[in-house]
Amino acid sequence: MKSAFEIVAIVGRPNVGKSALFNRLTGRAAAIVEDRPGVTRDRHFGKVEWENRRFWAVDTGGFDPEDDDTIPGAKMAAAIRDGIRRQVRLAIEEASRVIFVVDGKAGLHPLDRAVAQMLREYKKPVILAVNKTDLEADRTHEWDFAELAQDQGVAVSALHGRGVDDLLDAVVKDMPVYAGQAEEEQLRLAIVGRPNVGKSSILNSILNEERNIVSDVPGTTRDAVDTPLRAHGKDMILVDTAGLRDKGKISDEVEKYSAVRSMRAIERCDVALLVIDAYDGVREQDERIAGLIHDAGKACVVVVNKWDKVEKTDGTYEKCLKDIRARLKFMDYALVTFISALSRQRLGEVLPLAIQAAEAHRTRLSTSKLNRALEEILASSPMPSFRGRILKVYYLAQTGIRPPSFALFVNDPKLMHFSTQRRIKRLLRERFELKGTPIILMLRKRS
Ligand code: GDP
Repeated sequence: MKSAFEIVAIVGRPNVGKSALFNRLTGRAAAIVEDRPGVTRDRHFGKVEWENRRFWAVDTGGFDPEDDDTIPGAKMAAAIRDGIRRQVRLAIEEASRVIFVVDGKAGLHPLDRAVAQMLREYKKPVILAVNKTDLEADRTHEWDFAELAQDQGVAVSALHGRGVDDLLDAVVKDMPVYAGQAEEEQLRLAIVGRPNVGKSSILNSILNEERNIVSDVPGTTRDAVDTPLRAHGKDMILVDTAGLRDKGKISDEVEKYSAVRSMRAIERCDVALLVIDAYDGVREQDERIAGLIHDAGKACVVVVNKWDKVEKTDGTYEKCLKDIRARLKFMDYALVTFISALSRQRLGEVLPLAIQAAEAHRTRLSTSKLNRALEEILASSPMPSFRGRILKVYYLAQTGIRPPSFALFVNDPKLMHFSTQRRIKRLLRERFELKGTPIILMLRKRS
């Protein structure tokens, strides 16, 4: 299976600097991700790009016990520790390699040995990062760690950035070069959401409705976890459906800890169907999953399920929609539909909306079309001058698809206000019907 990204788990005992290292590694990619105001970033997952390789880093440090004193009762503490271990194990299971972080200042700790032992069970490549070696003088303990991993560790300072390039070289070694996705691939849909929102019910209803046309799509390699489907004249692949088709095998408890699984499904899809419970409204976990979809640059349809459970009076629909839009402000482009998997109300709308979003996601516009649109946009709304200098806009070019990405060439990017960029994006979206997909607009300087 050609998976676009590998997953690399950052593992180690508490306080060795896993999160600092995670921030250091993912900080590099932050500049190309669109901003997401008002929402705290999911601190567990981040994209890393290095030497034409791409991977998702998973910070299992976010799963460390934060403050044991605040947990009432030994039983509760044990339950939470158990959950944490499970999360770490799930992250390792999903990962193709592991960065094992140790504290170079403190030296070898008994817990490091325990972590090493756990890692050995998984037989995955382990890259040892000897952290906190801020100065050359801090390297005294480096050899203590030799017993933990096969290869010699890489001395790093997550805080100061020292050795991080060497670490990245070691991590991406033998990783395939990322060549982008092939263009004529089938649409890939993922049904994601927190437990019990109705993902399985929706999947099963869709498969039942379309059962005569479920086909093996020829010429595609696919995972056993995927389900091919032909509907509305399109070949599609529903990715990562194994756990949904075969409920019972995967317990809710496991699903709860498997944010890594949603992340992987999201990474492998073109369009994410984000299922939320109409009765509960948007919860924090829904927001987080939406954030992952947004950060991954995927198209999105918000499927508000269990609409049958909501008592309706005048304006209920409008109010619900407004609430959802407010909570998911950063993905104002998402299509939204209200359905009931139970009564099958509007179930038939889900796939057509997903197709619409997928097509917008892979839209390619000619430079002439784009620049005619740009001229009109500029004529209707003259660019403001800023700090006494006049912004000159030269031309617009599309630089990529999935999602549609554009470069706007200007005399000086600093002269363009953020709100102007937003307006251009909005006008492009309206003009070319780019519904359901994010758009990336980058400014480029040209003198
Ligand atoms: P998943 O964990 O997201 O896959 O959720 P399930 O598909 O297992 O659904 C969780 C529960 O919600 C089950 O008891 C379903 O019968 C119920 N459910 C799913 N869709 C609907 C719906 O549209 N309306 C109502 N009232 N209940 C639903």
